[in-house]
Amino acid sequence: MRYIETEQESLNSQWYEPTFRNRKQRHRWRRRRKRKLFLGAVLLFLAVFLFTRYLAAPIGYKGLQIPYNRTRCLRTPYTISYLVIHDTANRGVGADAQSHYIYFSGGDRGSSADFFVDDIQALQINDYYHYYTWHCGDGGAKAKINNRNSVGIEICVNRDGNYAAAVENARQLTKKLMKELHIDIDHVVRHRDASGKDCPGTMSEVDWQAFLASLNDD
Ligand SMILES: [Zn+2]
Repeated sequence: MRYIETEQESLNSQWYEPTFRNRKQRHRWRRRRKRKLFLGAVLLFLAVFLFTRYLAAPIGYKGLQIPYNRTRCLRTPYTISYLVIHDTANRGVGADAQSHYIYFSGGDRGSSADFFVDDIQALQINDYYHYYTWHCGDGGAKAKINNRNSVGIEICVNRDGNYAAAVENARQLTKKLMKELHIDIDHVVRHRDASGKDCPGTMSEVDWQAFLASLNDD
């Protein structure tokens, strides 16, 4: 004998649904579920958006912090888009990373940076997740590459230092930051690319292309 499913049985046919008395009740339940799913998706999207944009910034920075020429700004690896390379243009004896830190923490110098790199260290002087520094003269944040969406790295060029070693330290730092901030080589730029200033002046076009190419090396 052929089995004929009753209406009740067909109403019950989906395992994740409760039992319905009639079609109307099932229709109402399904409509309500659709609404709940939509609301859930919106809330999930909002939560992910807010978390990545505002909450993913690491806290508890214990490094050095310059008190001048910085702007409070909560940033995350998702809102920092560029690494801007500079050099200090200071050939003076002793103009290394430490002395630039002392100089920039000693008063309003009208500019600043996140890192100073010499032949012995890459010195971080700003908590870049919570402040941006004033390193690339960005026309009041109107430029595509600006202070707010970038981190500034200054290479020291003091004549008593080993410039090649400083560039190597800058390369290592750049690679580390690229990984941490999800930045690709196309977003590693010079101050010159950001605002047209001739910086880093010590690097020729060939040096710069070599620096970029070396970011693929270990
Ligand atoms: Zn510069």
